[in-house]
Amino acid sequence: MSMDTVQNNMVVSMEYTLHVDEEEIDSSKGQDPLQFLVGHGNIISGLEREMIGMKVGQSKEVVILPADGYGEFDENAFMNVPRTAFPQDIPVEEGTEITVRDDSGQPRYARIDTVEDDTVTLNFNHPLAGDELHFNVKVVGVREPSSEELEHGHVHQDGHHH
Ligand code: ZN
Repeated sequence: MSMDTVQNNMVVSMEYTLHVDEEEIDSSKGQDPLQFLVGHGNIISGLEREMIGMKVGQSKEVVILPADGYGEFDENAFMNVPRTAFPQDIPVEEGTEITVRDDSGQPRYARIDTVEDDTVTLNFNHPLAGDELHFNVKVVGVREPSSEELEHGHVHQDGHHH
């Protein structure tokens, strides 16, 4: 494998466009390419797997099924909570995205599905759960990570460190 090939423990810069049901829902257009460290769960597993072995300059269409993307849509991943459980500063309306702590204190993403009288229904599905993801990706760079990036398992961009 040469240095211009997508492989484990290398930092890849990619341009991408994501379509779901023919609609463009995300893209790196007009932004810096997305950088990720291969093999550390930085991007969805199905996409990373398809990109292994690509070379700088190469483009590819990748279709990711829900199981390899953001999961199947779970009809049971809804929960009713009383409206009074929400802090004053959160707009209690459909579509509001919030983070709640589960029983073990782990943060979990949710969004408000419906509001009826005093009851709010939360949807814990990822917004793209159940969706077939159509990516167009282009590898624009491959480099070795710094030892710190490798240790942390993610890319440090623009001097940003966390
Ligand atoms: Zn870090």
